[in-house]
Amino acid sequence: MPDERKIENLIVIGGGPAGYTAALYAARANLEPLVFEGFQWGGQLQNTTDVENYPGYPEGIMGPEMMSQFRAQAERFGTRFVTDDVDRIELSDGGVQKVYLGDEEYLAKSIILAMGAEPRRLGVPGEMELGGRGVSTCGVCDGAFFKGQKVIVIGGGDSAMEDSIFISKYASELTLANRRDEFRASKIMQERAKEQPNIEFKTPFVVEEFVAGEDGKLGHVRLRNAETGGTEDFPTDGAFIAIGHIPRSEVVVDQVDTDEDGYVVTQPGSTKTNLAGVFAVGDLVDRTYRQAITAAGTGCMGALDAEWYLRDTPPSPEAHWLPGGEPTEVAPTPGA
Ligand code: NDP
Repeated sequence: MPDERKIENLIVIGGGPAGYTAALYAARANLEPLVFEGFQWGGQLQNTTDVENYPGYPEGIMGPEMMSQFRAQAERFGTRFVTDDVDRIELSDGGVQKVYLGDEEYLAKSIILAMGAEPRRLGVPGEMELGGRGVSTCGVCDGAFFKGQKVIVIGGGDSAMEDSIFISKYASELTLANRRDEFRASKIMQERAKEQPNIEFKTPFVVEEFVAGEDGKLGHVRLRNAETGGTEDFPTDGAFIAIGHIPRSEVVVDQVDTDEDGYVVTQPGSTKTNLAGVFAVGDLVDRTYRQAITAAGTGCMGALDAEWYLRDTPPSPEAHWLPGGEPTEVAPTPGA
């Protein structure tokens, strides 16, 4: 039997700034993209309050509202959405890309992976509850809200140093708490942080709990000395958790090239992965910048790369489709 199921031009996996921007560009190129945006669509911005650093919003905008607008703009040009989490993906090198939602199979000529990354969490009480009320995982996003205030940064890697240096421009006092006396961060970043007159290092301390004050915002952090076991309540206005990120590559990690931390590897200056027709964008590939604007930028690149791929790829017997045209019949399986 010939396989006459619909083969999409492009499936996008992910409903954050990268995925929606990819969808917008692809939709405007008449590719009619199908986006699997996840059950909790909107990505990390769904858990963000004020966004003040996205160009075009001089008064700032709430993260979820901004994502609604991204989504609506992609929808306006014909993007279709599936508001669910993908169960399985079968990537192909130049063939048909397959996406599964339970037993349902979706096929596409090309795919853009835009699943993002999530900040690593401490897993202690108060951490999630006080998110947006003093506890943050993004120094660049939220540092400026703590002008003249007291802030603690948790972590000992380059992100913690980078965040501390950035936030120390606003905060009056900044304490960098690390669970070990040694720091994982590069020497140069440690030196730079130490040079700031308002940054103090506090080791070896782990966070036991984030505790609200009477106003419902973060009041203090309960710290435990990792050596002596002694605890102390550390009063602070803001706490930044900077202990790394986890790329959401679990559904594709054995199929496409990733680095040792699970970030999908793309060719420099492009969104191409090692598989033809498979593109990756946003925080899923980015361990450095991780901003909504940079994610959106690479989302745009992904859509253009996919468009050019669909235009230029010659028909292949394995792919079962003609670029820009309707799916052809599947060649009969030998012996069937
Ligand atoms: P890293 O994995 O390098 O560092 C994570 C830090 O968090 C470590 O100090 C680690 O402690 C600590 N940590 C992890 N889990 C916990 C926990 N549960 N409780 C307390 N502390 C914890 O992540 P980064 O995000 O800092 O950096 C990731 C990569 O990005 C690195 O390669 C880094 O060099 C790079 N980067 C470079 C920058 C630059 O050059 N400007 C800026 C930002 C990142 P421990 O050491 O004990 O495991």
